[in-house]
Amino acid sequence: MLFTYRCDGCSRHIRGVCAHCKHEMLQQELPSVPGVIAAVSYDSTARHLVHGLKFHNHRGIAALFAEVMVERLSLNLELANVVTWAPTSKHRAHERGHDQAELIARAVSFRLGVPCRMLLRRTSSTSQTGQSRNARLIGPTFLARACSDVGQVLLIDDVVTTGSTLGHAATALREAGAIRVTCAAFAATPAPSERR
Ligand SMILES: [Zn+2]
Repeated sequence: MLFTYRCDGCSRHIRGVCAHCKHEMLQQELPSVPGVIAAVSYDSTARHLVHGLKFHNHRGIAALFAEVMVERLSLNLELANVVTWAPTSKHRAHERGHDQAELIARAVSFRLGVPCRMLLRRTSSTSQTGQSRNARLIGPTFLARACSDVGQVLLIDDVVTTGSTLGHAATALREAGAIRVTCAAFAATPAPSERR
């Protein structure tokens, strides 16, 4: 079958993600979000790719995200004894059959050779989508398992907006005994003042 496959980033007739999209992600400036390191801006390519992972379950994208994050954010073994993720609401994960943040965390852990463990549970069930900026600033809350044995945690999410979700999750991990928490996201939405 000709033309069955399309790049998730730009719809070129290519299986997987095309070289053009990958190059674009590797070359752009790093976005800046307080307290979080993020690999790319949540522009049209990143949006399409996240969409492909989230809603079409194209799991190869998680491996690509991990590759881009490890390279652009210089993620390494000194940063983490364990990789974890900020879980999406149970309802959303159930609807899709997977949690995209977990898929990315597992791909990063595989790439770094560091174990991936589920350390967090969401205690508020609201999802970020469709909420006002104020509601998002308050964000979801998390409970962490005892972390006194894990030391340094690399905490992963797919897209970060204000950083509040990862901030809450990181606080929960620290309160549970983690010594250092590094928050890393694949993509960051621009701050309101930078939006065009
Ligand atoms: Zn492409």
